[in-house]
Amino acid sequence: MKGNKYRTMHDKKNHSCPHCGAPVVLDPSNPYRPFCCKRCKMADLGAWLREEYRIACTILDSESDNSTEDGVILQ
Ligand SMILES: [Zn+2]
Repeated sequence: MKGNKYRTMHDKKNHSCPHCGAPVVLDPSNPYRPFCCKRCKMADLGAWLREEYRIACTILDSESDNSTEDGVILQ
């Protein structure tokens, strides 16, 4: 008995890291899932934050366009 009951709940056991492509165990023992490690998780989070800052800057740059005031910008 080694607590394998989670295997049946998380059967994507051949998942790969979205950042570097390394094999990832999607299991509660991996606090960084779906990433393989803290470095990949932080790197990906950083990419998301940069993306958001860029969007925020775009909104500020085009503030004369009042039709986007609720933040729904689909191009
Ligand atoms: Zn990785």
